[in-house]
Parts: sequence; structure tokens; C-alpha cells
Amino acid sequence: MLRRTTAATDLGFATRQLQPIEVEEPVRSRTTPLYLTAGFPFDAFDESAEHFRTGDGYSYTRVANPTITAVERRIADLEGGADAVLVGSGQAAIVVALLGLVGAGDHVLAGASMYEGTRGLLLEELARLGVTTDFVAGNDPDAWRAAIRPETRAVLLESIPNPRNDLPDLQAIADVAHERGIALVVDSTLATPYLLRPIEHGADLVVHSASKFLAGQGAVLGGAIVDAGTFDATRSGHLYPHLTAPSRVGGPSRVDRHGPLARIAHIRDSVAVRLGPTISPLNAFLVGQGIETLSLRVERQSSNALAIATFLHDHPAVASVDYSGLPSSPYRALADRYLPRGQGSVFAFTVHGGEVAARRVVDALALFTPMTHLGDVRSLILHPRTTSHTQRTEAELGLAGIEAGTLRVSIGIEDVADLVRDLERGLAVASA
Ligand SMILES: *Cc1c(COP(=O)(O)O)cnc(C)c1O
Repeated sequence: MLRRTTAATDLGFATRQLQPIEVEEPVRSRTTPLYLTAGFPFDAFDESAEHFRTGDGYSYTRVANPTITAVERRIADLEGGADAVLVGSGQAAIVVALLGLVGAGDHVLAGASMYEGTRGLLLEELARLGVTTDFVAGNDPDAWRAAIRPETRAVLLESIPNPRNDLPDLQAIADVAHERGIALVVDSTLATPYLLRPIEHGADLVVHSASKFLAGQGAVLGGAIVDAGTFDATRSGHLYPHLTAPSRVGGPSRVDRHGPLARIAHIRDSVAVRLGPTISPLNAFLVGQGIETLSLRVERQSSNALAIATFLHDHPAVASVDYSGLPSSPYRALADRYLPRGQGSVFAFTVHGGEVAARRVVDALALFTPMTHLGDVRSLILHPRTTSHTQRTEAELGLAGIEAGTLRVSIGIEDVADLVRDLERGLAVASA
């Protein structure tokens, strides 16, 4: 029922067009209610003061919004985390998570297989702010241990690196980070909490590009930061003085106020609120709607991907396939351990004949859309060497295994027989 809150009879047109019209509670919606609003009116003087004193309730969408909060709780629950913060994109999630841990003079240790946007962020933007990064390849704990410096404040991994599926041994690297009280941040965009929950394997923070599998429909961008809620000031407080020091005005510290949730409280109330990469409530709503079908999509995408990887592996026009679910993958043992429900939808394969052959395949395919996006319900294809990976030197491309004939696919939920037929035709054109 709609209710006008002020009798409008004696008001002018311009005033009347601005009078609030409120929906009377209780009204129940099948979906998460969409509060597409910049802010929330206070009932009275005392309520506004109370909000600023306690932080309870809602005032302004950059600080909190009920639609965004609902989706944050869903993601935290599915990841097995204590709390989550939703932001405007995956890149924003990575920046906000890292700036919750590092400042000028600090050091990040990152896996060598890293999303290009994150790699650029570390090597250029964070470098300009005085944060340095080293990259470590492989899973040898001693190599990770040797690369840690006194200034290291974050270890950053991707749970399923793109495009080569060179899986990290999460628990082994978490153990090395934790020997020194350092936080492990895992970008789990390609795994999703349906396939893998990094917090169960030692991650302290999990980040997502919600633009990919969580939203799933390819309509919106979003990002999430999930915290395990296990911040231990005794072991790690000396590394993160912004969490243990009194507040700027001499009040209690984050740890005093939030205990093991100090890290995510700082990320939410300070880093995200001040940098301001707020997600639109509409986009949060659409991410939330997407998540309701996450398990079905990812299950189907993974089984389709395994079938297609197997087909490609046996095809004479294909030189190699990097899918951790294949028995021939050097990462199969790690896949069995960390990804028993399925190995995801994104992988690379390399065709004989270099870039010429790769171009022919892409242009011949009818069911694979050439796009930089991934995690969509539709199948997508991309040539990394001429697109996502143009910022790398020949030597770096060689180390990353990105060859002239390498193509990345993100497998969708189509009928797999149709996708295989499409690839069969594309590969026949390429090798003609
Ligand atoms: C896409 C992606 C990002 C960046 O996310 P956006 O939502 O595009 O900002 C970060 N990490 C990984 C692994 C990604 O695939």
C-alpha cells in the first residue's frame, strides 16, 4: 500500500513532486528488495546522532545499503567467511583488500600466474604508492619462504590461474605466510565457492570478480572481499599497526572494537568507504540473483569444460591443453585435492600453426563469442597474446606458456555436443 507522508493539498507543484511516498511495512518481496537509493532519511534528530555514534542502521549507500548487505551476507556464507564487502568490480575488490593490508614501504608476494589487471595494479599503481611486489612461480614452500621480506604484508594467489590452470598449493603457501603472521589473499574468481572455499585451506581473505561466475549473466560488474574473521592481534598485530593503534582521535583501536573482525571492519569502514568504489544497489541485486543459480551453472560449465578439454587433447590440430581436470595435467593431483567437484570452465589450448591458425579457429567458430569476459553462461574465446597479455615481454610470455597459437576459452552451459561440433569445424578450417 502506498502512503503519502505529508498532506499535499496546500503545497505547490514543485514541492508536491518531491514529497516522499513510502511503501508501508510489512511488504514481502520474493526477491531481495532493491533499495536503489543514495541514502536513507533519519526519523528524527536523535536517530541521526545515534547512527553516527553506534554505526547501526543505514544512512548513505556508500557506507551501507540493505540490498548490498544482503548479497554480502550470502557471499560470506557460501565462502565460509565471517563477513564480506561488496564493491563495484573485481579490480576494486583487489585494490581495497590489498590497501587494507599494505601501505608505503610494504611488500606483496604474488603468484607468478596473475590476472593481467592485478599484475598491472601491483607493478604500476601500487608501485607508485611505494608498495613493491615480487612474483613467485610454483609451489615449493622454500621458494615462497625465501621470497618473504620483513616488509611483506600480503601473499596473493589465484585459486585457478587463468589461462593455464597452474594450480597453487593453497595450504602449503598459507602455512608459509602464517609462519610470519602474514595474510594470504586468494582471488577465487574462477573457482567460485561452489568448487573451492579457500578459507578452508588457509586463506585469510578471498576476493572475487563478481562480474564473472557469481553474476553469471554477463550484465553487470561487481567485486567481493570475504574475510575469514580470524585476525589474531597477538601473532599479526605488529605487521598491521593500523589495526592495533588507537583511532585518529584517540579512541579504541580496530582490534579493541572488532577483535578477530578488525581487518574486515577496517576494509569496510575505512578503505572502501573512503576510496568509494561502491557497487550500485541495482548491480548488487543482479549479482544476488545470479548467485541463486551458481551451483547449477558451475557444475554444468565444469562438466562441459572437461568434455571439451578431453576432445581437444585428442585432436591432431591441437598441440596442448591446459586443463587441470585432464589426467595428463601436471596439476591433476592438486585438482583432485582442491577441486573435487569440478575444475572450472576457463582453460587454454594451443593449436599447431601459431597465430594464423588461432585466427582461423576464432573466426570460424559460430558458438564461441570472442570476448575478454569470462564466466558467462555463453562460451567465450580469446587469443591472449594479442589481447589480454600484450603488456608482457617475450620472455614473460614464454614463462607464462602463452604461445602464438594459444587460445583461452570460458565454457558456457550450452549442449556440449554443439560446442564440440563447432570446435571440430573450427579446427578443420585451421588445419586446412
Ligand atoms: C576479471 C577478473 C578480475 C577483475 O575483475 P573486474 O570485475 O573485471 O574488475 C580480477 N581477477 C580475475 C581472476 C578476473 O578474472
